[in-house]
Amino acid sequence: MKIVFATSNPHKLKELNEIVKSFGVNDIEFILPPESFDPIEDGLTFEENSLIKAKEANRLTGMYSLADDSGLCVEALDGAPGIYSARYAQTPQARIDKLLEAVKPYNNRKAKFVCSMTLVDEDGKTAFSYTGECLGEISKIQAGTGGFGYDPVFLVDGKNGLTMAELSDEEKNAVSHRGKALRKVLEFLEK
Ligand code: IMP
Repeated sequence: MKIVFATSNPHKLKELNEIVKSFGVNDIEFILPPESFDPIEDGLTFEENSLIKAKEANRLTGMYSLADDSGLCVEALDGAPGIYSARYAQTPQARIDKLLEAVKPYNNRKAKFVCSMTLVDEDGKTAFSYTGECLGEISKIQAGTGGFGYDPVFLVDGKNGLTMAELSDEEKNAVSHRGKALRKVLEFLEK
C-alpha cells in the first residue's frame, strides 16, 4: 500500500521508510506529495497542524495521506517552544543556546518531545490520529552527535543520563515520540 507522507523533505521521507522497515513492516511505502505541497501550518496544536498537512497532501493526490507535527515542550516554560520549536531561533545551535538560557533560572527542567500523527483517508477524513510523547529533562550541557534539533540537550528518562543525541538510531526510534506515534499508525494500518 502506498501512502503519501505530507512533507516536502525527501530526507524525512527516507528516514520514515527506514523506520517502517526496521519495525518489520514491508507492505507499506510512503511517497512524497507533488512539489506544489506547501500547507499553511496555522494550527494551535501539534494535532491541528498534522491534520492541516495531511488534508493538504490528500487534496493534491486523492490518496491516503499521513502527516506528523512535532516539537519540544518544557514544563517551566509553560510548554514552550512547543509548536514553534522549529522557529524558536534561526539555527539549530541558536535554538539550543536560547533554550538553555531560558531554562537556567529554573530547578524544574522537565520536558517532553511530542509528535502528533494524523492519517486521512481518500476522502480527506481523519482515519486515525495519535500523539506520542517521550519524557525527559533539559540537560545543563550539550552531549552527543546523533539525531537532530534539540537532541543534544534532552536527557531521556530511563537512559542513565544519556541525551537523545547519544542514543543510536534504533534506540531513539524505540523510545522517541515519533517512533511511538508511528508504531500506532502502523498497527492501525495493519488491521
Ligand atoms: P516539524 O515537526 O518538522 O515541524 O519540526 C519540529 C521541530 O521540533 C524540529 O525542527 C526540532 O526543532 C524539534 N524536534 C522535533 N522532533 C525532534 C527530535 O526528535 N529531536 C530533536 N528535536 C526535535
